[in-house]
Amino acid sequence: MSASINLRTAKLQGVPTAREPARGVLVAGSLPPASLASRAEKVAAVAARHAAAVDRDSRFPAEAIAAARAERLMGVAIPRELGGEGAGISDVVDVCYALGRACAATAMIYAMHQTKIACLVRHGRGSAWHQLLLRRLCNEQMLLASSTTEGQSGGDVRNSSAAIERRDARITLERQATVISYGAAADGIVTTARRSPEAASADQVLVVFLKQDYTLEPLVGWDALGMRGTCSGGFRLVATGTNEQILPVSYDKIHAQTMMPVAHLAWSGAWAGIAAAAVERARAFVRKAAQRADGALPPGAMHLTRAGASLRTLRSLVAGALQRFEQAADGPAALESVDFQTGMNLFKVNASELAVATVMSAMQACGLAGYRNDGEFSIGRHLRDILSSPIMISNDRILANVGAASLLGGTPTSLRD
Ligand SMILES: Cc1cc2nc3c(=O)[nH]c(=O)nc-3n(C[C@H](O)[C@H](O)[C@H](O)COP(=O)(O)OP(=O)(O)OC[C@H]3O[C@@H](n4cnc5c(N)ncnc54)[C@H](O)[C@@H]3O)c2cc1C
Repeated sequence: MSASINLRTAKLQGVPTAREPARGVLVAGSLPPASLASRAEKVAAVAARHAAAVDRDSRFPAEAIAAARAERLMGVAIPRELGGEGAGISDVVDVCYALGRACAATAMIYAMHQTKIACLVRHGRGSAWHQLLLRRLCNEQMLLASSTTEGQSGGDVRNSSAAIERRDARITLERQATVISYGAAADGIVTTARRSPEAASADQVLVVFLKQDYTLEPLVGWDALGMRGTCSGGFRLVATGTNEQILPVSYDKIHAQTMMPVAHLAWSGAWAGIAAAAVERARAFVRKAAQRADGALPPGAMHLTRAGASLRTLRSLVAGALQRFEQAADGPAALESVDFQTGMNLFKVNASELAVATVMSAMQACGLAGYRNDGEFSIGRHLRDILSSPIMISNDRILANVGAASLLGGTPTSLRD
């Protein structure tokens, strides 16, 4: 794959300028839902066929991502004028949900990729380099990975240690990336970094490096409890590029307006899909048990009721958060407000807790058949996968960070607030 974007030879016609806002993941979907949904279902069918092997071998879900490329799902949220389909955030989260029902790793990879796309669509508007990248991304159905976690700082996304070094128009970055999911399989990495060696740790930029721009030296492998197919190994990332590859907006804005809310929405879509798949298995188990007992429900049936109830709550939580994001999406001030930021952070905490509770209830409904790793009613893979959700940016860290904001604001006087 030829990786560089040559601004001298590339055609710039049709590339929107900063004054012509691009449609994309920031606005409500304009696609006929059936078309995207049926393509997502095709990919989900492929993902489901390989999910057990992907989990067992802790390998990249190559077949599912190839199918997503064949169905042209990688660039759906990119504006039409750049070759995408202008899909909205709800469309994207629905795809994450469909994939999550089939293979958690495929869904999470798609969710992380789409989060990077959302950042590029919104914050790359003023940059010809990033506009061309988006166009190329559609043409080549490229896959982008993410690097935010670094060294010993865990999920502290809003501080970076490694800094961009500049020499004339060239930049270099070297970072100890604790985790880069599907780093080895990606066509590019979108990474946070300190703006310069003199900058404070919170003075960050977001930069895109394409495969030809970097080397990845493996530091640690990925033999994890769940989400094994995300292949989230650690790497020493050494990258070089040009100044233009840095997004023209500082990372604090990108994080507040796009990275955090879109990540939380897309991840939650994937988690809701995993939870729905577990409930589906539990329902099948209870049905079969009832058939064997002349219609009498097994004692574990109440856990199915509980699983179904928490799945309903989870689904409406995601739907409510999507609506909130869509309402605020065109207003940077609304997106950056304390209320919105607190809401979207707590949404992640609640969604992950509900997803874990749902899968746990589904397992209890199936009893031993759910606890086993084999058999048609096993909930083992779903449980291992969903246990990643509270630690993927630790819920404790989020709760601690929004602690001060909890002191602000009063008690709503109406249920319609
Ligand atoms: C499946 C998966 C895929 C991932 N993919 C990527 C990726 O592609 N790129 C990437 O950059 N990162 C990725 N991550 C990393 C993720 O985003 C987080 O950075 C990481 O999970 C946090 O790791 P940690 O728990 O060691 O760190 P920490 O956040 O430091 O947490 C460590 C411990 O400290 C506790 N803790 C932390 N802060 C506080 C606090 N303020 N108050 C109380 N307790 C606290 C936590 O509860 C936890 O017990 C991935 C993680 C997972 C699970």
